[in-house]
Amino acid sequence: MRVVTTLAEARESVVGLVGLVPTMGFFHEGHLSLMERSAAECDQTVATLYVNPLQFDDPSDLDRYPADRERDLRLAEARGVDLMVVPGPDEMFRRPPLTGVAVAGIGERLEGEFRPGHMAGVATVVTRLLAGLQPARAYFGRKDAQQLALVARLVRDLGFPVEVVGCPLVREADGLALSSRNVLLGAGRAEALSLSRGLMLAADRFDGGERRASELEAAVRSAVPDQALEYAELCDAATMDRAGTAAGETVLVAAARFGSVRIIDNVRMVGAHHGARADRGVRLDHASLLYGSE
Ligand code: AMP
Repeated sequence: MRVVTTLAEARESVVGLVGLVPTMGFFHEGHLSLMERSAAECDQTVATLYVNPLQFDDPSDLDRYPADRERDLRLAEARGVDLMVVPGPDEMFRRPPLTGVAVAGIGERLEGEFRPGHMAGVATVVTRLLAGLQPARAYFGRKDAQQLALVARLVRDLGFPVEVVGCPLVREADGLALSSRNVLLGAGRAEALSLSRGLMLAADRFDGGERRASELEAAVRSAVPDQALEYAELCDAATMDRAGTAAGETVLVAAARFGSVRIIDNVRMVGAHHGARADRGVRLDHASLLYGSE
């Protein structure tokens, strides 16, 4: 695996059908599943490791975002990444960038509301990566359901010739959605599990035939302490507009704050037909390598 610091170097040194996996590092099985998928489906896989300051609304969150470059490079190489782009300080943006990308609607609700500037920061950095690297495919996790909807829409609106591939959400063995921030939970972890537990209750209700948003959302609220929950909302998976019933392609998204750590999670609920099953993602059957079990 080659490591480069500029997008131009990366673009010029790859050939064939190129898959892109954008990340902020401190890899876990969620990130690695995107890399493996791209490596299996594309001629070459480019991953990027860039902790994008534009998408952090809280400076303390950016300061303590976990990082371990050597570990990340080792893990990515073993998953078939051909080229890792670790942009140097001035590579991504002239500071401050004067141009930004904002996606109306999708980018303004939920995460956009609770983390001002976050979704525009994501849209801007993804646009920069797609323009600079020109991949044929770009892989994103369904863990960040709103991000995936936003990227799919911006690619359509701006006409980037790239296929956006949504990949399954990966959970820890106890159900907690994998996130690099999980290592910061500490003693708050037991309480944080209430979020995935609430979503699994909602998934059980969906599997049992419940389609009303109010009931599905109430299942999440029944499990998560009021003071922790920021939102639990059933949305159209493409527009992220509020959905009254889980009739078409919907996703029940939720966010909560446990101590100083904020986590997000979701369950996809697709299909009005009887017998439809909620998509809970995939669960590890072992401890995550986040905790040193490489
Ligand atoms: P991040 O480094 O958190 O910006 O994430 C980089 C990519 O990995 C994004 O496309 C995320 O959606 C994806 N990702 C993060 N956590 C998970 C997870 N638990 N399951 C699947 N994909 C994930």
